[in-house]
Amino acid sequence: MKYLSTRGQAAQAQFCDILLGGLAPDGGLYLPESYPQITAQELSEWRTLSYAELAFEILSRFITDIPAADLKAICDKTYTAEVYRYTYRGDDASAITPLHWLEEGKLALLELSNGPTLAFKDMAMQLLGNLFEYVLDKRGEQINILGATSGDTGSAAEYAMRGKHGVRVFMLSPHGKMSAFQRAQMYSLQDDNICNIAVTGMFDDAQYIVKAVSSDASFKARYKIGAVNSINWARVAAQIVYYFKGYFEATTSNDQQVAFCVPSGNFGNICAGHIARQMGLPIGRLILATNENDVLDEFFRTGVYRPRRAAETHVTSSPSMDIAKASNFERFVFDLLGRDAKAVAELWRQVDAGQPFDLSRTGHFQHIAGFGFVSGSSTHADRIRTIREVWEQYGVMIDPHTADGVKVAREHMTAEMPVVVLETALPVKFGDTIREALGREADRPAALAGIEYLPQRVVVMAPDADAVKQLIAKRVSA
Ligand SMILES: *Cc1c(COP(=O)(O)O)cnc(C)c1O
Repeated sequence: MKYLSTRGQAAQAQFCDILLGGLAPDGGLYLPESYPQITAQELSEWRTLSYAELAFEILSRFITDIPAADLKAICDKTYTAEVYRYTYRGDDASAITPLHWLEEGKLALLELSNGPTLAFKDMAMQLLGNLFEYVLDKRGEQINILGATSGDTGSAAEYAMRGKHGVRVFMLSPHGKMSAFQRAQMYSLQDDNICNIAVTGMFDDAQYIVKAVSSDASFKARYKIGAVNSINWARVAAQIVYYFKGYFEATTSNDQQVAFCVPSGNFGNICAGHIARQMGLPIGRLILATNENDVLDEFFRTGVYRPRRAAETHVTSSPSMDIAKASNFERFVFDLLGRDAKAVAELWRQVDAGQPFDLSRTGHFQHIAGFGFVSGSSTHADRIRTIREVWEQYGVMIDPHTADGVKVAREHMTAEMPVVVLETALPVKFGDTIREALGREADRPAALAGIEYLPQRVVVMAPDADAVKQLIAKRVSA
């Protein structure tokens, strides 16, 4: 399998070549040259596979430059009931992503948040950690991952990379701005290759430092600075697997259709759903749910893509969906435009200059229904009401991101097919919102009781890029 760039100006590459990098050299995103097509026979054979077996079958269609036996071992080691053990509603941990019906045959949650950091990002990030270690070992190379986080992504990266050879993580977070639970999750890691840096400032200050360090080309090359952001192709590929698994759990035969409803920010998660559908999985609808940051909902309703400025971005109670532009969206638009890389490059010249684009009067947007997408958005009041209703009607506690999904899913329910809402985080990560909605503490998996009292390891620093560079240089040469 070869990979090409959505902007058409980068050389084709293999999976391992693009694994450790970010954007293609022409500024585009990598995609497979074509999507593998799944036959009816494969689909029926896959129905009974374990998660790890299914992951191997699907990923081996996309990863052809790692020997099959090695890829199989990586999948087996990643997708275990031990790693994804925090399911706490009496569901079966060995399913890895158990399906939990709210209304039998109609509305379900697909539990994607039973991994170490209680959010769906673990589904892909745990695989990425094992792939990184494998490829770096093979090549005798090292990488130093530098990132900024306000919670979910940074902790998922740390739990994926902890103890891995060849990899160090330097993760910046805003000092005193995360919840006690989130701080405990990140700062209690004692692994030598994980370095937490709390910056006395806001998330934006932390992100600014990452940009400043990464744009120093000679420092970046000398210290092998890398990233694991949401445009990484391997993360998208890993996420394709649970659409298949969720489909099999929600149906009894392959002539049935399923709708998936996906709480969305950067279009990473639902992009994997789009690809699963292109491969031939019988997905009837892809329902995209946003919060008040409704860039994507606006596009799917009107054909206008209008990235927001930072000042227009709302701070919401589903913070992991608070985005100004959707970094993975370019992948879908590439397919929507019939894979016309020149047209995509032209549209993103506009986006990069801060301009919107409008596809509403093009033939492409007329065909959008053929891609199965519909969308909706929600507000803080919607989330609070939905968390309360799901608790009262079904006795199930959901986090505010999943609540965005359930709210929009209910608006698009039909008698024709069940809707599966992807559960993107467990409620304990967002205790304040749960307290507001339910007047009680969030449920917490028993194994995480008292995590706030574990010893913590964190370096507190002023927001100063040079000081961060010195710290990296010192740790890397030590
Ligand atoms: C990252 C995240 C999202 C958004 O996912 P995208 O792939 O960026 O659309 C939604 N919910 C939670 C809890 C997240 O951490």
